Amino acid sequence: MEKMTLVLDQLPGDPVEIPCARIEGSLGDGPHLTVLAGVHGGEYTGPAAVLRLLHELDPGRLRGTVTAVPVLNQPAFWSRTAFVVPADGKNLNRCFPGDPAGSYSEVLAHEVFTRLIAPSDALLDLHAGDLPEALEPFCLYEESAVEERSRALALAYGPGHVVRQSRALRTVGGSTSSAAADVGIPAIIAEIGANGICDEASVAGHLRGVLAVCASLGMLPGHEVDPSPPPTEHSGWAWLRSPVRGWWRPAVAVGAQVAAGDLLGVLLDPYGEELHRVAAPVDGCPLFLTSSPAVDADGLLLGLATG
Ligand SMILES: [Zn+2]
Repeated sequence: MEKMTLVLDQLPGDPVEIPCARIEGSLGDGPHLTVLAGVHGGEYTGPAAVLRLLHELDPGRLRGTVTAVPVLNQPAFWSRTAFVVPADGKNLNRCFPGDPAGSYSEVLAHEVFTRLIAPSDALLDLHAGDLPEALEPFCLYEESAVEERSRALALAYGPGHVVRQSRALRTVGGSTSSAAADVGIPAIIAEIGANGICDEASVAGHLRGVLAVCASLGMLPGHEVDPSPPPTEHSGWAWLRSPVRGWWRPAVAVGAQVAAGDLLGVLLDPYGEELHRVAAPVDGCPLFLTSSPAVDADGLLLGLATG
């Protein structure tokens, strides 16, 4: 393992140092896979899986190269900030491919995109439910010229749900995976774990997924992958936001199948009176859900995988 530090000194304030590692396989040429984790500050299962990967991936059994970043969003990680970069309050995973003349997060995204994502043959970006977020494991890939190869990464990764995001309905534009796919690099966002908890099963799920992707790309000859049941594939999303600030009381759990019109939850006023009822606009399956009661006006409530 070659330890490296990506130093970003063009940002305001102290330079940001991002520890990364590169593992060159000794079995010869092969793909260059980049594995990012810690794009969001309170999602710990991906970073924990990458730390384990660095110690378990044997270069003697590897064909090609793995570049891995345990904690990408260093400012958010150390300040335990959910979703956003503290310096400008932006969600880093809406800022890719970035802008060298933009705000803090946009410059950070630009540097990460140019130096880590663009030189890759395939990209995995490991996430989980952040501190206030329940989540059912899933992978997300984008409509693009390389979408079949992206879908193959998602299927190899092995969670119970896979969501294809069309270009027209990109609820999460500016993500690592959409920016990569737009320049022809197959990519997925893999989500396992919830509520900022670093539980063993989710860490193991991420590690299994990364190794299974390596095997599917021909990078780990002889690697035995435990078969996982075929996932439920979804053709899109409905993301629901709250029209009001209120105490959020969900009425469904992640992973449950709901029908159009079903009650998903209610928002209460400061005295516990009902302010607003949230019903499912379409049939679907909530894959992530805000579990914190504190929801501001326009706050995200849940993501319903559809189709
Ligand atoms: Zn995330």
